Amino acid sequence: MFIGPSGKVLDELLEASGVKREEIYMTNLIKCMLPKYRRPKQDEIDICGEYLLKEIEIVDPDILIPLGYYATRYIFERYAIPVPPKPEFREVYGKLILTDDRKIFPLRHPVAPLYQPSVKEEMLKNYCRMRFLLTDCKWYPVCPMKRFYEEGRLDRRWIELYCKGDWGNCVRYQMEEKGEPHPDWMLPDGSVDERLREGGL
Ligand code: SF4
Repeated sequence: MFIGPSGKVLDELLEASGVKREEIYMTNLIKCMLPKYRRPKQDEIDICGEYLLKEIEIVDPDILIPLGYYATRYIFERYAIPVPPKPEFREVYGKLILTDDRKIFPLRHPVAPLYQPSVKEEMLKNYCRMRFLLTDCKWYPVCPMKRFYEEGRLDRRWIELYCKGDWGNCVRYQMEEKGEPHPDWMLPDGSVDERLREGGL
């Protein structure tokens, strides 16, 4: 799996992100080597996809990280997430999505920079964010968001997408790191929810 030039790119990206292959479960959507590395056909995706779904059921991961268009489209379809049209598809890469039971974090396929070197920098940034997903935010035990959530005043999505997800992207976190003051009722995306303030702060 991921051998040859794209495997080398993947190894580089993983090394830069500090994620070891042993920390993650890796698999393929298509289970056979396709002749001349051609694109998978729909019937091949449908047949092999059944094995992938079984693997997901057995491994039961919290986070799915589909790499590239075909794997991401397949996962989106299975989790009833709208699939953007192809010209806009790149916008899904690096966006953390919450479903009922899992998080999905699509990334570009490691083969991408071999054809389009300009995407490498953005890929490096997004692959490095995998590190955040492996641990909770260090501020979570003392963060007002935890209290609001436990009091039933904050939607679970905020906690899963930021505090137990992509916390490096949290505006509160970034301000904490710089020692910048911010109101307790400021949400992870930087917006302010006055209802949290009215709740007795
Ligand atoms: S809201 Fe932000 S700073 Fe607070 S625990 Fe969540 S990710 Fe960390």
